[in-house]
Formats: sequence, C-alpha cells, structure tokens
Amino acid sequence: MGFKAISLADISDQLSGDSPIASNISQSIKKLPEPDVFIHTSGGLRIPAHSGILVSVSPVLEKMIDRSEKYRSSEIFIQILGVPCDSVTAFLGFLYFSRCTDEQMEKYGIHLLTLSHVYLVPQLKQRCAKGLGERLTIENVVDVLQLARLCDAPDLYLKCMKLISNHFKAIEKTEGWEFLQENDPWLELEILHFMDETELRKKRTRRHRQEQSLYMQLSEAMECLEHICTEGCTDVGPYDMEPTKKGPCSKFSTCQGLQLLIRHFAMCKRKVNGGCSRCKRMWQLLRLHSSICEQSDSCKVPLCRQFKLRMHQAKTKDDQRWKLLVRKVASAKAMSSLSMPKRKREEEVRGEIDRI
Ligand SMILES: [Zn+2]
Ligand SMILES: [Zn+2]
Ligand SMILES: [Zn+2]
Repeated sequence: MGFKAISLADISDQLSGDSPIASNISQSIKKLPEPDVFIHTSGGLRIPAHSGILVSVSPVLEKMIDRSEKYRSSEIFIQILGVPCDSVTAFLGFLYFSRCTDEQMEKYGIHLLTLSHVYLVPQLKQRCAKGLGERLTIENVVDVLQLARLCDAPDLYLKCMKLISNHFKAIEKTEGWEFLQENDPWLELEILHFMDETELRKKRTRRHRQEQSLYMQLSEAMECLEHICTEGCTDVGPYDMEPTKKGPCSKFSTCQGLQLLIRHFAMCKRKVNGGCSRCKRMWQLLRLHSSICEQSDSCKVPLCRQFKLRMHQAKTKDDQRWKLLVRKVASAKAMSSLSMPKRKREEEVRGEIDRI
C-alpha cells in the first residue's frame, strides 16, 4: 500500500503560518524524540507521531498503543479512517499544540467534534462545540444537531434546538430536515417536543408578567389611597383638612383615577348594595387596603378599622383567592419599595418611624 508521508513540521506550518508562535512550535518539534507511532488515514496519508504525546492526551489512543505494544511485530500504527485526511492532521495538530485554526474549524469542525468524542479529548470537544455553535446556519443546523446528540455535546445540542425552534418555518424546507424526517423520527419528535415546551414557557412568562403588572397596579393604587387619605392630593383630601393643592403627585395618573372613584363613592346613590360596579370596586380597594394596612388606630383610610374588626370577628371566613391576592399585592408593594431610589426609601422609613 503506497503511503504519502506528512511530517509534524507540515502540520505545525498549517497551524501557525507566519505567526510569532511558529518558531516556538518548531523549537518544540526539534526537542521531540524520534517518532515511534504512525497514523494512517483513509486518503493514504502516513503521519509519524509520538506515543508519549498521544498517550498523554487521549485515553483511547493510550489503550490502542498499549495493545499494539503487546503484540508488536514491527511498528505501531493507528488507523484513523472515515474522516478526511486533513481533518486527521488538524486533529493531531490539536493533540500536539492545543491549537486549531478558524479555517480548520470552518472546514473540519464536524469531523473534529467526532474525533474528539471518539478519542475522548475534552478540550477539543469544548472548542468544537463552541466553534460549531458560532457557525450554525439554517442549512446546517439539523446535521449539527444530530451530531451533537451522537457526540454527547449538550451545549451545542441546546443551541441547535433553540435555533430550530426560532426558525422552524425555514428549517422545515431544508434537505437536512427532510432527511431527518425520513431517518430519525425520534429526533424529530424530540424537536417538536422542545418547541412545545418553549411555547409553553413563553406563555407562562407572559401570563406571569401580566399578573405581576396587575399586582403592581393594585399596589400603586394602595399607595395613592394612603397618600390621598393622609396628605390629600389635588381634589380630594382627608376629612379634617383641605386638600393641599400643591399640584399633581408623582403617580398622578393612578391617583387621579382614584380621586374620581372616591368622589363617586361619596356621592353615589346606588352604592354597593344597589349594584353599582364603581362603588364595588372602591369597596374592594378599601378592603384590600385594610388587609395589608399595618397601622392599627392611626390609619386615616376610611373603613380601614371596620374592615379589620370584621375580619377579626369572621376569622377564617376569607376565601383563599382573596388571601392570595392580598399576599401578592403586599409583595408587589415590598418590591416597589425596594426598587425605589435609596434616598426616597430612607425618607419613607423615617416617616414610618415618626408615625409610630
Ligand atoms: Zn396624588
Ligand atoms: Zn356608585
Ligand atoms: Zn389602614
């Protein structure tokens, strides 16, 4: 069998070109002993190598070399077949110099990933997973996904899945997808399942955000209610003082709506029992306030004490959903006070202390 020979110096040339590390590498090659192993590739390439180095970087090569040493006839050779020769030289380049060029990654990334998996070289595997992940396209992603699964590269696998699920319409039209459908229905199922999960997760997040914003609105309404009933805002103030007409407060859009609602509540003839929906809403807000209010006697919000008294007498009559609402609004309130600027928070704390 005719072999074409390639030397380590050739391999290092491919790696370093004219870069400053070139001389370092060629220095280190000179220090190496005589090659004692030969790698044979499918294209008929014969590459001299050093068992000491191969053994130190790959446990699989170590076993292979051990075995051939036992039954050694003339020379040790290792066959690396089934991948292009140049990917084998790139592989050896990495084993010797821990380096791999962008060009090699571009051309042989998938072969290098396979080799790193088969010969158990984790650093190269990591490098390939990253390199291939950066080079994903609509056209190649299905192939890379299959490889990532075969080679047990979870980061790359996840990246492929995300790309597929975000561009499914385009992916569906590729040859890779067609091939997958015909040959790997399990993986197809896995992909569809992943997409379902992603969709569900998105929905859940959306719902959570909507809920959160409702609780924030309610918490803001609670703040405004206290503010209107203790210091007054533009149109409405506590019964024992004129509203301080100092101009709109910082949450005026909420505050104004609430002031209108309060005025309506005071004047409405139908009231809650007459079925007025606006009064009902006001009633609920007052009840909500009372549920989260921590002041006992000094609170100036109307009906706060009455609600508290009633709750006390009724004990556990409150239904679970109401309790949950109260808890969520209270925590939204705590969240908003935490995200306030520090100065304002301190002022508020001081205010609270003054009130006690
Ligand atoms: Zn206000
Ligand atoms: Zn009304
Ligand atoms: Zn209160």
